[in-house]
Amino acid sequence: MTERNIYLDNNATTRVAPEVFEAMRPYLTDFYGNPSSAHTLGQRMRAAIERAREQVAELLGAGAASEIAFTSCGSESDNWAIRGALEASPEKRHLITTRVEHEAVRVLCERLERGGYEVTWLDIDEQGLLDLDALHAALRPDTAIVSVMLANNETGVLFPIDEIGRIVRENSDALFHVDAVQAAGKIPIDVSRRSVDLLAISGHKLHAPAGIGALYVRQGVELSPLIIGGKQESGRRAGTSAVPYIVALGRACELAQDAEAHERIRRLRDHFEDTILKIPNTRLNGTADRELRLPNTANISFEHIEGESILAHLDEHGIYVSTGSACNSGAHVSSPTLRAMNVPYTAAQGSIRFSLGRYNTAEEIDYTLEVLPGIINRLAEMSPYEFNRP
Ligand code: PLP
Repeated sequence: MTERNIYLDNNATTRVAPEVFEAMRPYLTDFYGNPSSAHTLGQRMRAAIERAREQVAELLGAGAASEIAFTSCGSESDNWAIRGALEASPEKRHLITTRVEHEAVRVLCERLERGGYEVTWLDIDEQGLLDLDALHAALRPDTAIVSVMLANNETGVLFPIDEIGRIVRENSDALFHVDAVQAAGKIPIDVSRRSVDLLAISGHKLHAPAGIGALYVRQGVELSPLIIGGKQESGRRAGTSAVPYIVALGRACELAQDAEAHERIRRLRDHFEDTILKIPNTRLNGTADRELRLPNTANISFEHIEGESILAHLDEHGIYVSTGSACNSGAHVSSPTLRAMNVPYTAAQGSIRFSLGRYNTAEEIDYTLEVLPGIINRLAEMSPYEFNRP
């Protein structure tokens, strides 16, 4: 059994940063009190929450910290944005989204569709890119909300949210929601350009623990609450505030501004991707234009080989990856994202998502590049398919 832990699954979740842990620790041990309480301990908790709100606002470029509301996760933020917008405009019965959203948006929209809403599902091309003319054509007077992700969790392909926001604003009264769960902490986000009304992030994707998320709600946007009860989060989201987690998210947002770390990850990913793609019968899923993809993600198909087998062999070497999206693991259907890109079944089944992060080293990447060709070679020899063996 190997001693290695080479974690190349940072799009699934990330390790809690030591700095984040240190920031939240006192709120698990020494500092307590309900932030809604009037006494000194309560006030101290409120101050910690407001500081974290500023840190999140800073990462996203929000003009006012009050535009940030804390939630329990990215899925809640997405659900709130969409359900809250629909409830605030009950006369509008149409929404627009893409075929490649995370389940938090996609499954919700499918459910709304079954419940009588009309949903326009935007297609993507083989590169994973959206047709903005189709978006323009789909906008209607009764469109309540357009929900589009910033970065795809499987391929890392980026959608042009500023341009989409402009099209939505100039041609409709719809709200524009962005699922930025995969993008936040990996690429700069700037809501001050005013193209976005709502934007979701999640702590565990950027080195805070799971259990905390946030929703940016542009000032003036009318959004009904999803969780009803107390007056927390200025009456927008009920539930006693999870102070340690909120503090953790704030600190994680501060850490995420480390441009040098991003550049280092980008260089490692580029070298990794370039080297893997030299192995015969490999193909990149998502555009080859790296400006249009997250800097940490490489989704690569090893044609005619079972992705699950590659994953298991890498696991034996202490290297951890995903086949497609982590949420799709175990299911033997191609992921909706790869299907939407028309990736052939035999390639989709052999797709591996490598997602790098803050703690990966060049040595780890070199080791992975050393063992991978041997694994692929062995599995290719066992494959029932005829093709040029490496
Ligand atoms: N949106 C995207 C793009 C994601 O990748 C994920 C998680 O993988 C989510 C939403 C859901 O976030 P959470 O796990 O915090 O609910």
